[in-house]
Amino acid sequence: MIIKDLFSNLTILVSLLFFYAQVTKNYHMNNNSSVKVKIIAGILGGIVCNILMHYSLQIESTIMDLRHVPTILLAYYGGPIPALISMILTIIGRFFISMNLASYLAIVISVSGTLFAIYFSKSRYSKVIKIASITTFNNLIFSIIFCFLVHDTLLIVKAIPLYWVISYFSTYLAFFVLGYIRQSQRLFNKYQEESRTDALTGLNNIRKFDEVYNQLISNLNTDKMKLSVLYIDIDFFKGVNDTYGHSEGDLVLKELGYILIKNTRPFDIVSRNGGEEFTVLLVDCQVNEAAVIAENIRKNVEDIPFKLSTGKELKLTISIGVASYGDTTKEPKMLIKDADKALYEAKHTGRNKVCVASL
Ligand code: GH3
Ligand code: MG
Ligand code: MG
Repeated sequence: MIIKDLFSNLTILVSLLFFYAQVTKNYHMNNNSSVKVKIIAGILGGIVCNILMHYSLQIESTIMDLRHVPTILLAYYGGPIPALISMILTIIGRFFISMNLASYLAIVISVSGTLFAIYFSKSRYSKVIKIASITTFNNLIFSIIFCFLVHDTLLIVKAIPLYWVISYFSTYLAFFVLGYIRQSQRLFNKYQEESRTDALTGLNNIRKFDEVYNQLISNLNTDKMKLSVLYIDIDFFKGVNDTYGHSEGDLVLKELGYILIKNTRPFDIVSRNGGEEFTVLLVDCQVNEAAVIAENIRKNVEDIPFKLSTGKELKLTISIGVASYGDTTKEPKMLIKDADKALYEAKHTGRNKVCVASL
């Protein structure tokens, strides 16, 4: 009976940890997190403790459960703010279950356990020792008060060792589960970010470009927003590779990426769409402004030589096609095609120039 109830408490705890980790996946709490993040974590932790209490094991006037575990996790990862909030919510919740001596003594367990967890989490010991010590302290206080409240000696002899074993197991399991989910989430975010980034230049890659572009054009009709596109291609780039080698060509691509970032606004979307072709999505920008930005970029590239690894300076030029929703096309989906067409025109009318798509 005791094992069964504490085990179901543990399964509830683990499921709630998954839920908690999912809800807070963008706000991994640590000691340096903002107060807001800590408060939210504390409230969520308090809710988890309350749910655990509602599925607790009733033994005479007292109840036995794993409510201390979430508070230990909060104290360890977030320090006093989340741990104390969770503690207060747990104490309040305990009085909704029953109002007797056991619920008053539960305050002693919660307060002492939480304060010790906050204090000991800051110690220099290893994580394993910290968890063991904090759990031991909680188990001790709980056992003393349990012995004081429960009169059936046989029950005490049976319940206390089981509580200790399950309490240790649950605390370590909770740390393991939360750590495992957090690590998976971190890796997922990292790989997701990498899958959208061009490894050479650090700019958006074609996947991210498509994602942002589709999102922007789906809002165009409703937002009455302007959107311009620059389609950029290096002139005679093959010659750079042929003359200086592929790795020097890569250096040029990197430098161009830097020039594009430097000459656009922070919220514009600069991407390397493949090879030596780049795009800039100019958000809320009319065709005239887009042409000025494009000309500025073209001039910068023309004027400032690229530096190769040997120290040699190389003069290059680029051609740019410009298209703009509302000014050169009324069809958002045609933007890229039109900018590409304008680029083609720039290439075939002498290169090193900016061509604007015609309506
Ligand atoms: P145009 O003025 O007509 O654009 O001439 P171009 O030589 O720049 O055009 P072309 O499309 O013929 O050549 C593009 C070259 O870009 C071919 C390829 O070797 C080079 N390239 C594509 N991707 C990369 C890359 O990742 N690194 C390097 N170094 N070169 C690349
Ligand atoms: Mg090309
Ligand atoms: Mg080219």
